[in-house]
Amino acid sequence: MTHHFLVVHPAAHGAWQPRRSWCYTRCPVDSSSISAGLIQIKTGPDKRAMKEIAIVGGGPAGALCGERLASHGFQVTIFDERLAWEKPCGGGLTHKAIKAYPFLLDSSQPKKIVRIAELISGSGHRARFEMSHPIVIYARKVLNGLLLDRAQAAGCHTVCSRVTSVNIDGPQVRLMAGGEERRSDFVVLAAGARNQLLPETVALGAKDLEVTLGYFVPTEEDILKVKFLKEFEGYLWSFPRSDHLSVGICAKMGQSPTHELRRHLDEFVSEEKIPMAGARFFSHMLPSPEAQTIRGRRIVGKNWAMAGDAAACVDPVTGEGLYYALRSGDLLAQALIEGLPQAYPERLRAAFSADLEFASHLARKLFRGNFLGGAITTRMVQLLNCSPAFRDLVRDVFSGSQDYRSLKSRLWDQFGITFLEFARSFFSPSATARATRSAPREPQP
Ligand SMILES: Cc1cc2nc3c(=O)[nH]c(=O)nc-3n(C[C@H](O)[C@H](O)[C@H](O)COP(=O)(O)OP(=O)(O)OC[C@H]3O[C@@H](n4cnc5c(N)ncnc54)[C@H](O)[C@@H]3O)c2cc1C
Repeated sequence: MTHHFLVVHPAAHGAWQPRRSWCYTRCPVDSSSISAGLIQIKTGPDKRAMKEIAIVGGGPAGALCGERLASHGFQVTIFDERLAWEKPCGGGLTHKAIKAYPFLLDSSQPKKIVRIAELISGSGHRARFEMSHPIVIYARKVLNGLLLDRAQAAGCHTVCSRVTSVNIDGPQVRLMAGGEERRSDFVVLAAGARNQLLPETVALGAKDLEVTLGYFVPTEEDILKVKFLKEFEGYLWSFPRSDHLSVGICAKMGQSPTHELRRHLDEFVSEEKIPMAGARFFSHMLPSPEAQTIRGRRIVGKNWAMAGDAAACVDPVTGEGLYYALRSGDLLAQALIEGLPQAYPERLRAAFSADLEFASHLARKLFRGNFLGGAITTRMVQLLNCSPAFRDLVRDVFSGSQDYRSLKSRLWDQFGITFLEFARSFFSPSATARATRSAPREPQP
């Protein structure tokens, strides 16, 4: 059965108009690069059994999944109530995202390439360092637009409409969008952290979520900053973008009342002397999944699957979700192309969710734990200033090239060196000063 979806101009917001093409970013998409950086797939036997796929959510998970499926001949429709929009987000892409999807660096869309990071402890210690690989920071409207443009260039239809219900009980999936019923053979749920469109899935609860508050500030900066607070599961951040800053705070849900988070945020803004004229406030939810959720969450059924935030694919320590959204969308598409949707959770586990599960055990210890009589986060900032070996490790963690499971053995392997370097600098103030001064290197053009 063929369905003719009406596609709307993203700016029309609800006014249904037929449309052939629209460039969200107003930059040409190089369609020869559409498959570049995507996982190489083996074509399975019954990939044609399922032809029409509806995707709810045109964020990174949904858009990349759609692009991938459409470029393998599936008829794909992406439903998003806003399409390309400025979702509250840092917008930071680490090295693993750039390595897997080089078009994110090569695209002509505006982005900021940040090489220097500064960590600030709850007691005010600071350490600056150059990351081993730069972080690429996009405004989310630009990033979503880039991904949706690529999805369209690959053949996806995009529909600017809210999906209000999904019914998977019949021979075909039935969706309600914009007051009309739509049908497909399979539905991908990529609608973000707080969506429960299917009764047989469970929405993420408070224990698996973080609250975030922040500002988009129209000012320029080159350094990425992260500040820890004492006895606090979360952190403050300042992420420079091409023409503004995203400044915010994230905290485990239920840990602190909103007014307290806002106070920490405003103190940070004033300590860092961020000019607030024209700043826009935002607040949003971010998954911070517990190990049990990562391991036990059901993310696939006979004619549906979840990807990205909806599938709790977020690093519980850093809140990084963009890479995991892209990768889960990509892995899901690969499984569908091969006609093996049931293989998706296992592939996700092999690719990264076992590592995220390990990270969820670390998160609480990292933010609340003590080491040598002080908070771990404070010791971390101090060690960064006096141990080159430890600094190398943190540079890799921050740029996303160090996974959590091998972090433990790396820490143990270099514990002796780090401890010696720490002890040497402790007894020799001049060595500390030297190490601190040499920490940030000039960014390379
Ligand atoms: C404040 C904040 C800062 C963050 N900073 C970073 C960072 O710097 N780096 C990083 O890697 N990650 C960061 N993240 C995480 C990152 O934003 C998410 O992990 C990522 O956006 C997930 O992508 P997604 O495609 O799964 O979902 P989303 O990006 O949330 O996309 C879901 C889409 O679904 C649409 N939608 C929802 N419901 C419906 C419906 N019923 N019908 C139709 N459409 C619907 C929405 O409009 C949206 O476009 C941050 C998150 C927050 C909240």
